[in-house]
Amino acid sequence: MSDCLFCKIIRGEIPSTKVYEDDSVLAFRDINPQAPTHILVIPKTHISGVSEICAQNASIAAHCLEVCAMVAKQEQLDGGFRVVSNCGADAGQTVNHLHFHVLGGKVLNTDMA
Ligand code: AMP
Ligand code: ZN
Repeated sequence: MSDCLFCKIIRGEIPSTKVYEDDSVLAFRDINPQAPTHILVIPKTHISGVSEICAQNASIAAHCLEVCAMVAKQEQLDGGFRVVSNCGADAGQTVNHLHFHVLGGKVLNTDMA
């Protein structure tokens, strides 16, 4: 996806602060952190959001969650953390490339909606 912001980050056309990378997943710091630790975990293949997860790409989505756990350990979020994926306009998704927010480093607000 040539005009997708996160695809541009994957290609290195837009800078990011990477915290983890492998062949299929990238994790980097959110530019507008909502908690002391706020990391975005994304697949390197373009999937528009959770609504597009299917049998063909479920393994990469699962690997994203594995990386969420890894970066939470790396960031020493031992007291707990939250993983969020906004999907679609009603949820406030602003970048249409699947991403998991990893939030922690403080006691988080428990409002879910
Ligand atoms: P969402 O609103 O769930 O689609 O989340 C998109 C997230 O991407 C927001 O938390 C933004 O702060 C973050 N974001 C937007 N542009 C960048 C960027 N260039 N580098 C890092 N994070 C970004
Ligand atoms: Zn993309």
